Amino acid sequence: MAEYNKPLPRAEYSDLTAPFWEAAKRHELVIPRCRKCNAYFWYPREACPRCLQTDWEWAPASGKGRAHTYTVVYQPQNPGFNEDVPYAYTIVQLDEGVRIISNIVNCRIPDDLRVDMPLEAVFEDVSPEWTLIKFKPA
Ligand SMILES: [Zn+2]
Repeated sequence: MAEYNKPLPRAEYSDLTAPFWEAAKRHELVIPRCRKCNAYFWYPREACPRCLQTDWEWAPASGKGRAHTYTVVYQPQNPGFNEDVPYAYTIVQLDEGVRIISNIVNCRIPDDLRVDMPLEAVFEDVSPEWTLIKFKPA
């Protein structure tokens, strides 16, 4: 197999999302919460999708949730992830009510995976600049 030398894709790091990534580096999960209607929402955006107000804050999240659904990846589209297979591409339903995309780790894949399994956040420091938020069985 040919050696793969391209860098792995990086998450978007903008003024809007910087507080999320900075919190991740501190091993904290934060998600947007509207100051007007108190709704949490995901993904980060300029206005609350419920009431359209632009007054929102980054609020601490419990890091707890459930596997809403997942798929097991054996052949990643990006060869940079070849060493990670099989991995669980997962939509996590956080206890705060929003769904985020992540991976389930620290378990046997696919044997231990179940829809609706309880999960909790773990923080992977993949480089000095980047920490990724993944989930393990709770
Ligand atoms: Zn709102």
